[in-house]
Amino acid sequence: MTTIAPGHTIGILGDGQLGRMMALAAAELGYKTHIYGQDPDAPAAQVSTYSTVAEYTDTEALKKFATDVDVVTLEFENIPSETLKVLEKIVPVRPGRKVLETSQDRFIEKSFLNSLGVPTAPFANVENLTDLGKAIERIGTPAVLKTRRFGYDGKGQFKITNGTQIDEAWEAVNGHPSILEGFVPFDLEISVIVARDIQGNIETYVPVENRHKNHILDITLAPADIMKVVSKHATELAAKIADNLDLVGLIAVEMFVTNEGDVLVNELAPRPHNSGHWTIEACVTSQFKQSIRAAAGLPLASPERHSNAVMRNLIGHDIDHWQEILNHPEMSLHLYGKAEAREGRKMGHVTRLFPLDTKPKA
Ligand code: AMP
Repeated sequence: MTTIAPGHTIGILGDGQLGRMMALAAAELGYKTHIYGQDPDAPAAQVSTYSTVAEYTDTEALKKFATDVDVVTLEFENIPSETLKVLEKIVPVRPGRKVLETSQDRFIEKSFLNSLGVPTAPFANVENLTDLGKAIERIGTPAVLKTRRFGYDGKGQFKITNGTQIDEAWEAVNGHPSILEGFVPFDLEISVIVARDIQGNIETYVPVENRHKNHILDITLAPADIMKVVSKHATELAAKIADNLDLVGLIAVEMFVTNEGDVLVNELAPRPHNSGHWTIEACVTSQFKQSIRAAAGLPLASPERHSNAVMRNLIGHDIDHWQEILNHPEMSLHLYGKAEAREGRKMGHVTRLFPLDTKPKA
């Protein structure tokens, strides 16, 4: 079935806050949702019609889930390929396995980008200490060693500032297959969220600026304060990537902008993204609703923004300020229903709108 009509059930792999906001958007369009995750009280499970609590390797649970839903989408990209192979025999999976396999592995991802002519930092595959030595010789320092798989929020990364840190760097990535990347002296970090429907139509959200604290996204400013030509170029790169992945769904493209206005792609995330939360209040269609429309085989809606915006994450004990935030009527507070405020844990976010002719202020 290509189009999944409202009233049917959308399966979502992953049970975090992204899944929660996807499930809420799906409900607005009249869908039921079924979360597949590992925690019965997870943010997404709390707001979904159905949930399955099982590992991604549990073939029987996967088959049952696939039979119970009408389409599968995801809020988390580190889903084993084998899981998708089980599901796709029974039910459409959007975005599909090719998109996931490309974005799960930094070496495959960057090789794919370069094959399209999309610029990235220079990089080299590192399987062992000898490779690392050669990679440092070729790329130079400073450089960043990153595990090929399962890295997020700066985890599994080590910045190498000189050639004597080889052993320390290799230990930091626990000897896992990695890539060495040249360090990009960027001016700012931006991201572009692009949606592609089953017919291949594309819609993109305006490029936004992302500022990090302790390797975790702190604030997003929409739009990014960049020249029009840079914004257009970044948007075109994102659309080209979505097209060449045959994407059906949403993908966030994280990029570096240098002070010469060059744009280098750093990372792809084939799902709604933290840097797109502002779209809930500021755009005709939020990234969450857009991702549900794409997964359900519906036409995309307008991503146009009617306001500028700043989104701030509430990390760990930032959430203790929830009452203070509620005393600011101009702020939209989103909480994810997580019981425990651990350090570095994304507990919620706050969005503030600005008129289109005003620069969003942090
Ligand atoms: P990543 O996990 O690849 O998104 O990296 C996390 C953060 O580390 C990025 O958002 C950047 O701030 C920084 N970073 C990663 N790779 C590089 C690089 N090649 N050059 C400079 N900064 C980087």
